[in-house]
Amino acid sequence: MNRRQLLLALPSALLLSACGQTPEQLFTRRVHTFGSWVDLSLYGLEPGRAEVIAARLERELSFMNSAWHAWKPSLLEEVNAKLRTGQVFAAPDAILPLIRQCKSLYEASEGLFNPALGLLFRLWGFHGDKSWESRPLPEAAKIRELLTDPPGMDDVEIDGNRLRGHNARLSLDFGGFAKGYGLDRLAEILRQEGVTHALVSATSNLVALGTHGSRPWRIAIRHPRREGGVLAWLELADGECCSTSGDYERYFERDGRRYHHILDPRTGYPATGAQAVTLLHRDGAVADAASTALMVAGPRDFARIARRLGVSEALMVDADGRLLVSEGMRPRLHFPDGRPDVLSVAI
Ligand code: AMP
Ligand code: MG
Repeated sequence: MNRRQLLLALPSALLLSACGQTPEQLFTRRVHTFGSWVDLSLYGLEPGRAEVIAARLERELSFMNSAWHAWKPSLLEEVNAKLRTGQVFAAPDAILPLIRQCKSLYEASEGLFNPALGLLFRLWGFHGDKSWESRPLPEAAKIRELLTDPPGMDDVEIDGNRLRGHNARLSLDFGGFAKGYGLDRLAEILRQEGVTHALVSATSNLVALGTHGSRPWRIAIRHPRREGGVLAWLELADGECCSTSGDYERYFERDGRRYHHILDPRTGYPATGAQAVTLLHRDGAVADAASTALMVAGPRDFARIARRLGVSEALMVDADGRLLVSEGMRPRLHFPDGRPDVLSVAI
């Protein structure tokens, strides 16, 4: 694990220390998938049973990783190649529901969440192993070219289980959404298995079931600028999902400026309005897409886009480091530094 991966893994480490875990009741397992760490915490299960369930979750994660990977050989890559031909083809079952949900989130976010822009994401190179190394920016002409008649989710036509692409630059990339979607599937499996107390954390996305013994699951929201610092603590209710997007997750610096991995579909460049967004929703996929979309929306469109996405509990650290908190989120936050200045937002 390199230094940055350690930092990304920090929220879950903080989480476990904050909960004051009792090892005999808490089973934990760490799995590497989706390019980061997934931490499984199962509470109150007999150890043999916890092992069996963890193995099932691991298999599911490995399947998702191979089906939805946008830049390694995967089912999604095959779908992308077929979409670009403009021919009608049968959609794989493992992909169709994601496309459906992405279409509705694209609409609701007014196109700010746009997973059809895979070619643009690739051009910026945040997927590679050296994505943090300083490098020249992509050529402005290439960005402009990709945004001439830019692909959107409305270019993907669905007819029953058949698909057809209407833009030769279509390339679906579920990087802003797949973790949350995947957590919904894992939560479903846990419920099927009769597990009532668990927390699954994919670094920036989490889902909580039940409680941690006699108290709720408690998580730390990372401070976007203080390495290892906590912005606030938050307790999760049964079935709640939490998603964070931040300009510190994947970025490089060039000539004193930060270029991060959440791109504004209107400009083709990294979004400029916010350092971080954290929000809650009962649907992990919606939560994931919404935190990405709100990074693009920035403070000006925060309330409107959140409302359109059905999000009422959200916070944003804007580009100047100011904290905007929705009225629904405010009472849920516990700040380590007493009471910071907070701008209240009605969603
Ligand atoms: P997240 O950390 O969930 O905010 O997702 C960031 C990832 O989503 C990036 O690494 C890209 O793969 C993808 N992405 C970047 N910008 C957007 C956008 N505007 N809409 C949808 N996905 C995006
Ligand atoms: Mg996201």
